[in-house]
Amino acid sequence: MSFAPLVEPAAELTIDEVRRYSRHLIIPDVGMTGQKRLKNAKVLVIGAGGLGSPALLYLAAAGVGTLGIAEFDTVDESNLQRQVIHGVSDIDKPKGQSAKESIAEINPYVEVVLHPERLDNDNVLDVFEGYDLIVDGTDNFATRYMVNDAAYFLKIPYVWGSIYRFDGQASVFAPWLRHEGDDLLSPSQVSDLPCYRCLYPEPPPPGMVPSCAEGGVLGVLCASIGAIQVNEAIKLITGIGDPIAGKLMIYDALEMEYRKLKVRKDPNCALCGEHATVTELIDYDAFCGAVSDEAAEAAVGSTISVTQLEHMLKERDNGERDFVLIDVREPNEAEINHIPGAVLIPKGEFLNGNALAQLPSDKQIVMHCKSGVRSAETLAIVKGAGYADAVHVGGGVVAWVSQIDPSQPTY
Ligand SMILES: [Zn+2]
Repeated sequence: MSFAPLVEPAAELTIDEVRRYSRHLIIPDVGMTGQKRLKNAKVLVIGAGGLGSPALLYLAAAGVGTLGIAEFDTVDESNLQRQVIHGVSDIDKPKGQSAKESIAEINPYVEVVLHPERLDNDNVLDVFEGYDLIVDGTDNFATRYMVNDAAYFLKIPYVWGSIYRFDGQASVFAPWLRHEGDDLLSPSQVSDLPCYRCLYPEPPPPGMVPSCAEGGVLGVLCASIGAIQVNEAIKLITGIGDPIAGKLMIYDALEMEYRKLKVRKDPNCALCGEHATVTELIDYDAFCGAVSDEAAEAAVGSTISVTQLEHMLKERDNGERDFVLIDVREPNEAEINHIPGAVLIPKGEFLNGNALAQLPSDKQIVMHCKSGVRSAETLAIVKGAGYADAVHVGGGVVAWVSQIDPSQPTY
């Protein structure tokens, strides 16, 4: 079941372009008209990271005429394991600029538009305006819901992808798109296609789903899912094939298995349902929550800085005070960097109750994780068990490495 092409064809291809795209042109389904549609297409890629890197490289090579890049971050050494649009000489450079330079090398006929500001409610609609299609490579839930809602309000289809360790997902969201031949539907009739909120009406509880920065991602998984996103983008632009709108692609790299599930439109969807309650952009940080209410409450007045921790550790060495410093990260994270003197008890041990039996009852408990989110969750559990003077370290080991011990690597 196909859709009408999203983009009208450009007037012509130059002789150089005909030579460059000849392997597309001799595919009957693409042909000269399809390539002209690609030339006329304006695609915005959100993030030049794990998914954005392969997506941008192949969209550029395919001849998409205008590529927008919404990216505010700079290239870090830890990005290079998967963000293949950047190289060693790009470290510390803005990712958007680095990506633009790589694209110029692959296909000088592509116009690149940089959007170097962090997307938020104040700018997202302005940034999206004018694009035919969005490829979403964001890595957090707050931005994902914002992208979904903004794209829905502006009626811009978008290709979504997500990755974690060995697992990936992808879909196309465009609840207003009509199947070709459905022209007889009256404007008041809604399409049967879902949006992201139909699939995931609520974000997961804060701290339940680790990010790739916390849990890791197999680098090549980015190419597997990014390639699906580009594939769908090309199909939507040119109107060929059957896009995965209304379906969820699930990829398991360890089993080497692709599954395709049907996703139904939720008639009660808060955004695209018949009685929508989300009629404008909302507070996405509050909707997704940085930490749970319990953790936020526990952290008030019980958060210390890494400078305070350094001072406390010196006092402990001098015998002036005693406390237990607990690292609640996973063992493989602690192999990368650590705060000296910390004992490793992963967060899961606090959730299942085993950790509490190991804690001394006569010493203060000090906890840290990578950035302070997980340790705030365990702080709530420990304080709930009666350790009223327990504290956690704001900013975690990331802050420790940047402020106290830059000789250690970050991740
Ligand atoms: Zn919906």
